[in-house]
Amino acid sequence: MTNPVTFSVVVPCYNEADGISAFWDRLVSVMGDLGAPWEAVFVNDGSRDATLDRLLALRSVHQNIKIIDFSRNFGKEAAITAGLDHAVGEACVVIDADLQHPPETIKLMVSLWRSGSEVVLGKRKDRSADSKLRTWFSNRFYSIATRIFEVPIPKDVGDFRLMDRKVVTAVGNMRENQRFMKGLFAWVGFKTVVVEFEVGVREHGTSSFNLWKLLNFAVDGITSFTTVPLRLWFYIGSAISAFSLIYGAAIAISALLFGNAVPGYPSLATLVAFIGGVQLIGIGVLGEYIGRVYREVKMRPIYIVRDCYEKKGQ
Ligand code: UDP
Ligand code: MG
Repeated sequence: MTNPVTFSVVVPCYNEADGISAFWDRLVSVMGDLGAPWEAVFVNDGSRDATLDRLLALRSVHQNIKIIDFSRNFGKEAAITAGLDHAVGEACVVIDADLQHPPETIKLMVSLWRSGSEVVLGKRKDRSADSKLRTWFSNRFYSIATRIFEVPIPKDVGDFRLMDRKVVTAVGNMRENQRFMKGLFAWVGFKTVVVEFEVGVREHGTSSFNLWKLLNFAVDGITSFTTVPLRLWFYIGSAISAFSLIYGAAIAISALLFGNAVPGYPSLATLVAFIGGVQLIGIGVLGEYIGRVYREVKMRPIYIVRDCYEKKGQ
């Protein structure tokens, strides 16, 4: 049996009421040109505004819209996961609702998919739309990540991408709770090509990612994809032990040769404070990983759906 839907477009939405109809218009004009049946899967990620009403209004006019309404805000990663779970297309596109990802790029993605690529990544041409601080922060993240991750994460690549059904199935089979999607997408592999796109400006609403959220996002990313920080403490501990042995020997020798005049309080205090600090950091890193294991073993669902508007009349 052939699949009745060729393309699924997955759109995570959080407080996007004002922009959704402009987004829809641009999406429709692009998808209409592809000459294949398609569907849009909108995920309303606990929006506090009229996003759901706007989506339902669109759905009352257009047949090919699915809406998944979350019981609360579960975050973009969960929203993308839900969208992909409900998408049935041969190829799935993940795109932001705020028009920062130009829908027109989908045409190029589709032509690359038709010529055999399994993943087509959207890469931002420049980051001038972002603040200097955010750009700096993200550059640091990628330079650390490429060195210590199990799999390389392509730089300046966000969630805007097209994936073949095989890839969607592979990603969907990973049900870990703490989802760093960029990492999961990279981890599954497949034949990947990159297309560049110009980041648009956000026309409506505000970005829901501030620097603090991004910092936590980076820590999440690092701890879900590498245990290097844990191993690092083994090396630091070994180096400090070696140093302490040498230092101890030096003190013993100097006491033997020159007698002991009970000096050394400053060095002792410094060492105690230093080692105390190092231990605390080490415990913190351990704690981070234990926390992740704890959250993961509870096996809670990644998201909870209040209503799922899939087939007409539901
Ligand atoms: N988004 C979401 N849940 C959230 C935060 C964001 O579904 O908790 C959606 C949002 O509606 C948009 C996309 O994720 O479609 C990107 O969000 P945003 O524009 O705030 O992020 P930025 O472009 O600044 O990375
Ligand atoms: Mg945005």
